[in-house]
Order: sequence, then structure tokens, then C-alpha cells
Amino acid sequence: MDTVCLQQCDGYDYGLVRNALLSLLEPFGGMSVFVMPGDRVLLKPNLLSAKLPERAVTTHPTVVRVVAELVREAGGRAIIGDSPGIGGFQRVAEKSGIARAAAESGAELVEFSTTVDLPGSGTFRRITVAKAYWDADKIINLPKLKTHEMMTMTCAVKNLFGAVVGAEKAGWHLKAGATREQFARLLLEIYLLKKPVLNIVDAIVAMEGNGPGSGDPVRVGALIAGVNPVAVDVIAARLAGIPEELLPIGREARRMGLHGADRDGIRICGNPLASFRIHPFKLPGGLDVQFGMPTFLNTILKHHLTSYPAADRTSCVLCGVCRDACPPAAIEIKNSALSVDQERCIRCWCCRELCPHDAMLIRRGVLLRIVSALKGCGQPSSSSVPRGISR
Ligand code: SF4
Ligand code: SF4
Repeated sequence: MDTVCLQQCDGYDYGLVRNALLSLLEPFGGMSVFVMPGDRVLLKPNLLSAKLPERAVTTHPTVVRVVAELVREAGGRAIIGDSPGIGGFQRVAEKSGIARAAAESGAELVEFSTTVDLPGSGTFRRITVAKAYWDADKIINLPKLKTHEMMTMTCAVKNLFGAVVGAEKAGWHLKAGATREQFARLLLEIYLLKKPVLNIVDAIVAMEGNGPGSGDPVRVGALIAGVNPVAVDVIAARLAGIPEELLPIGREARRMGLHGADRDGIRICGNPLASFRIHPFKLPGGLDVQFGMPTFLNTILKHHLTSYPAADRTSCVLCGVCRDACPPAAIEIKNSALSVDQERCIRCWCCRELCPHDAMLIRRGVLLRIVSALKGCGQPSSSSVPRGISR
């Protein structure tokens, strides 16, 4: 049976976070159960882009700092590494506060750059990941709980996609992004390549709405830990009030026969789930409604059933970031206008995730609008202020 531990933490003050992390790890036996003296331990936060910690785009630096300190106290050497989706690593590390967290905790900061090519464990013949990720003795995964346009939610499993370096991410979106299920399988196979010894989720302030880059901070007041990232994601989704049927990672994990996808097989320790007020997250506007219709109908009705990206002319500065990142090259900038080829677009939402000006909007197909209204699938809120303490 998988164990997932929950711990209340109502803010990012150093003392609060340190005490909460110590309590969180206590039922597992503390950090020394996971880290042996001399281990080189890679901490993998979510460093999506150069945003301030209060935007809730990146794992909070205080969480990263304290975990690095606990690794050092257990005799390990902490290395903080990632490959940001957008922007230079150093700039992302500075703005997100992670560079300071590294300096304060004595951890080494490493940009994922060189790669190693590995045989896949199932569907994918070869998977290329960062050498720094592969070479570490241990990995501690430090995701941020956020909604995600393509995968509904990004948490422990999705955070491991950061092991894929820079531009190769776009290639994988193209190769494996035709369906959410296939992309979920890729993420799970990346996890199986090299399993983290521990996953600690920063859900003190999470993100709802148009995550993972442009959503709204929402206070949840929780830290979550577990060895199995699939089980951690199941519990994180409960905390976010996200229905299981909207989580392709859980569905695919079940298909692959992986442990952790079923709530009944997870033992919760620490603060019980019921002690947190479940506050259903607003979901991304780009989520399509799952109809379970035959493929040929889905193909014919694609424009009506799905959302698609379109640039907001007033805020788009035609910088070309989205065009350069678009896996199938569906974006064109010509005669001072940006256009998206809907036929080519695979709805990976990298353009929205990476646009530095929040200028890529979501247009919803007619049928999707009707069904969403009937189902009450929310439009995201526009507030950037964390709302309601959920405990
Ligand atoms: S990244 Fe954003 S601002 Fe830049 S061209 Fe694309 S939509 Fe416009
Ligand atoms: S236009 Fe945007 S959503 Fe469509 S494939 Fe390109 S990056 Fe992905």
C-alpha cells in the first residue's frame, strides 16, 4: 500500500515551512531514510519560467531551501536542477528566488543541458533526459500543485517532464502529444526510467484556472509527500477537488498496471484529507469535454469540440516566442499578424504556457461551449490574489 502524508502549512515563513516539512516527513522516518551520507541528491523543483514566487508558477524557494537543508543535515549533497520551459536558467533561478534558496542552503545550482539517451521502458524506444538528472544518486521531486491546460493538473508525475532538456520538450509534444493519454504514458515512462526517492508537493499556495503559467494563485495550506508520484497526484487531485475522470495520468497509470492510481490503495498519514476544506479548483479554459465519441466523429467535429489558441491582438507584441516553441510549427507571423493553423495545432498549449505577455487566448468550439455551460465547467477567474484559506 502506498503512503501519502499531508501537513498543514499556512504560509512561507521559514520557521513555518521548516516545522511543517519536519512533521511531514516524520511518519516516513525523516529525511535520513531517503538520503544516505555522501549521496548526491538532485532536487527537481518546478522552474517553468521567470516569475516571482507569489505568482505560484514555480515551487516556492523556502520549500526548496528547507528541503536542501534537510538533505545536507542527513549527510547528502543537494543539487538543485531543472530545464525551464522558457527563459534562460539563470534568469529563471534569480526571479523565482531559487538562486537565493541555493545560496542560503549551500546547494549547488545546475542547469540541465547535456543529455543522455536511454532505452524506454515500454511504448517509447528511446528517451533522452538530462545527464545531471540521470547521474544523481537520488532524486527528490519538488512539484508545485497547479492546473494544466493539457493534462488538467500538473503535480508530481508531470514535474518529471523537466528531465527532458529545453527544445527536446517540443519534440516530445509532437511525438507523444496527439492525445492526452499518450502524453501521460510518456510522463509515466520518464518516471519509470529513474524513480524519485521522494516527492514533496508545494501546495501551500497552488494555482487554479489557466495553469500552469497564467492561472491564479489559490491558498490551499498544504504540503504533500509520498514515495510514489502517482499516489501523490491522486491525493493532490482530491485536495484540489479535481475529478478523477479528468486526470489522464491516473487513467494511464491504471492501464499500465502501476501502483498508486486507486485511492483505496493509498494510506493517508499526517493531517487527514477531511481536515482540509476541499475547494474545487477552477479548471483551465482550454480543457476539452470528454465525449467518448467515435474517433471519426471527433475528427469531423474537431473545431467544435475542442478549444484552440488565438493571439489577443491588443497584448501580443509579435515576439515569436510561441511560434518558435510550437511543436508542429502551427503558428505563423506574417504582415504584422499572428495566425494559428488549427489543422496542425495539437492543442499542447505550449504557446499559452510560454507566452511572456499572457497574450495567447483560448477560443472554445461551439459544442464545447454548450457542453461546458451545461456541465458548469468554469471559466477561470481573473484575480491574481490568492483566495480563501481552504482549511
Ligand atoms: S509569445 Fe505571446 S506575445 Fe509573443 S508572439 Fe506569441 S502570443 Fe504574441
Ligand atoms: S498552436 Fe499552441 S497549442 Fe497549438 S500546437 Fe502550437 S503550441 Fe501547441
